[in-house]
Amino acid sequence: MPYDNNNIFAKILRGEIPCNKIHEDAHALAFHDINPQAPVHALVIPKGKYLDAPDFYLNAAPDEIAGFGRAIVAVTQKIGVAETGYRLIANIGAHSHQEVPHYHVHVLGGRPLGAMLPAGP
Ligand code: 5GP
Repeated sequence: MPYDNNNIFAKILRGEIPCNKIHEDAHALAFHDINPQAPVHALVIPKGKYLDAPDFYLNAAPDEIAGFGRAIVAVTQKIGVAETGYRLIANIGAHSHQEVPHYHVHVLGGRPLGAMLPAGP
């Protein structure tokens, strides 16, 4: 599947639609999720055009990958969950219910988050 330049996060990156920004640097942008699933719910996205985690980690340059990881850490500090703990989630593909086809990591926290999934296996 080719990258869709009209996905919602591409539009946020271009400044065509607004976001509640938390952090921005050369490699990443982070903002609050519009439909938070926890008291704190941030999204961290790379600035490059990557569909999902495999696309990003296989094709991005090493400085993009390192910068993105460090941006996630910076975000956890800015939103106040670095000390209390948090959960990182990246949805990939149909079974995960990935909705937006631009790689992103969810940062969730602000309360004890309970089990990783509601039911298993
Ligand atoms: P996914 O299911 O792809 O892993 O997560 C996509 C996330 O993007 C969802 O949590 C959804 O609430 C969020 N989202 C979708 N559209 C927008 C938007 O326009 N602005 C913001 N801030 N978040 C969005």
